[in-house]
Amino acid sequence: MRISVLGVGFDNITMDQAVAEGVRLMDTAGAHYAVTPNPEIVEVCREDPEALEAVNGADLVLADGIGIIYGAKMLGTPLKGRVTGIGFAQNLMGRMAENGKSLYLLGARPGVAEKAAERLRSQYPGLRIAGTHDGYFQEDAPVTEAIRESGADVVFVCLGAPKQEKWMKKNGGATGARLLVGLGGCLDVFSGEVQRAPEVFQKLGLEWLHRLAKNPSRIGRMMKLPLFLVHAAGAKRRQS
Ligand code: UDP
Repeated sequence: MRISVLGVGFDNITMDQAVAEGVRLMDTAGAHYAVTPNPEIVEVCREDPEALEAVNGADLVLADGIGIIYGAKMLGTPLKGRVTGIGFAQNLMGRMAENGKSLYLLGARPGVAEKAAERLRSQYPGLRIAGTHDGYFQEDAPVTEAIRESGADVVFVCLGAPKQEKWMKKNGGATGARLLVGLGGCLDVFSGEVQRAPEVFQKLGLEWLHRLAKNPSRIGRMMKLPLFLVHAAGAKRRQS
């Protein structure tokens, strides 16, 4: 069952359930895709119907970000918990390594996906990296063709939101992969180019604060978080 938070329908599931569903999707014929919206993306979806359609059209919609959990609670329809995109990706790679599945890494600046591939191969022995491609391309067809030729089961699509969600909806089928996952800046982290927040920040749901401290130019984007909470409060008032 999905829970709507300002129009975006989130799957009300735990991390374990999300990973099990991801594994099921990669064993099911046809192309599927997963998205991991945070409050910033929900705000984008409120203004961009194409983004909303791409997000709600996903086979898995995971609540990435503590703001979504607060928003759902404020609206009186709490979610089971946060399922971060990066945590989901890590758990999925663990399962893929056990099952001999192959992964294609798409996105980020030239060189980053290759670096991520190298590190992931050693972190997840048995994980097959089918190929990589940077995220700054003009035409989709050569990229979908390269993925198809690689025979990848899963593609991590890291083009930033809402570009990656629209890309997966439009091009998922052409890649021949069973599961595509939209993961924002994850390749930057997997490559070691960007450090993830220390665990204490992660546990407290304060990763956004760490990212802001490291990169103050994100402030414009981050102002969408308070805006999201204001909109959630407004929606609650209209409910009662
Ligand atoms: N990116 C890309 N192609 C583009 C625009 C962005 O590959 O046309 C990449 C960018 O290099 C970065 C990621 O997409 O690796 C977006 O990272 P960001 O931290 O903004 O994403 P978030 O995790 O906040 O959604």
